[in-house]
Amino acid sequence: MDETLHNAARHIRHGALAGLRAVGGFRWIAASGWRRRRLLILCYHGVSLKDEHEWHQELFVTPAFLRRRFEILRDGGYVVLPLGEAVRSLRRGSLPPRSVVLTFDDGFHNFLAAAVPLLEEFGYPATNYVSSYYCVNQRPILRLTLRYMLWCARSQKLAPDFLPGQDGAVDLQDRQQREKLAAILFDEAQMLSSDREAQRAWVSKIAKQLGVDWSNIVRSRIFHLMTPAEVAEIARRGFDVQLHTHRHRTPRDKSTFCHEVLENRRILEAQAGRPATHFCYPSGDVDPVFLPWLRELGVETATTGRVGLAKADGDVLLLPRFIDTMAQPEVVFESWLSGTGEMLNVRKGA
Ligand SMILES: [Zn+2]
Repeated sequence: MDETLHNAARHIRHGALAGLRAVGGFRWIAASGWRRRRLLILCYHGVSLKDEHEWHQELFVTPAFLRRRFEILRDGGYVVLPLGEAVRSLRRGSLPPRSVVLTFDDGFHNFLAAAVPLLEEFGYPATNYVSSYYCVNQRPILRLTLRYMLWCARSQKLAPDFLPGQDGAVDLQDRQQREKLAAILFDEAQMLSSDREAQRAWVSKIAKQLGVDWSNIVRSRIFHLMTPAEVAEIARRGFDVQLHTHRHRTPRDKSTFCHEVLENRRILEAQAGRPATHFCYPSGDVDPVFLPWLRELGVETATTGRVGLAKADGDVLLLPRFIDTMAQPEVVFESWLSGTGEMLNVRKGA
């Protein structure tokens, strides 16, 4: 389908959803026995501390956006439950009406700085799936930082050979060219991974060449994960800290995969002081080969990036979620809360 037609179809679908909502369709489905036998698990990643959402609206939402989503939950009478309790109730058939779970992936520092105050204000529990490598190694996540730096410099056209590894002139306004260069820079930086100080100096030099304020990126912690002490703090404040592998990887080799989960668990349990038995597949990478390994590791539930509402007879190691982003119109978000999205099969790209 060409883009104009695709956009028109999208427009019509949103209009139809808004019409259904206006006549009380969403409320009716939300209150139904059908919805009561289902659980919606919402997924967020980062919450912006600066302008990260302008760069990557699939990964970062603003605090104001999150507040509006929480207001919709509250005003719609949705019941936000802790993950473990919600999945157990789902299996027993004892969920309250309009059940929802909030999950945040990766363990960003901005969860503590920007999401926790809102969650506490609304009294909502949440699970944070923390990858531990950048938690114990406190520095900005390299891949995100390089991509963001090129976005910050997006008004520039780089002459050939301006940056290391660069292949020809690069127009940073062009997203594809930008992402390609970011991948090259990441590979270059990786070559220095045995010498952290040299790598840091190299990235800060690239930032300087691009005219980007590197010290501000480091100081603002926009791409840092929580420190071990911050993980302990969110656990103390009642938030659930769960598994996301140590290095955000899903190797197909059993012993490497299990090591990723066990190392992650060892670090998180030491900080949170509670068992970490719930898992989230990094980058939504699911392979049936992982399921028996996860069972052996005593993992109780695992969430994916597949869109849908969880059902009592579904596999608890393949729980669907709705990935909420700033690109999702409110009517689509509400269609999923109410169950209408599932019923009418409103999938990604809706
Ligand atoms: Zn992740």
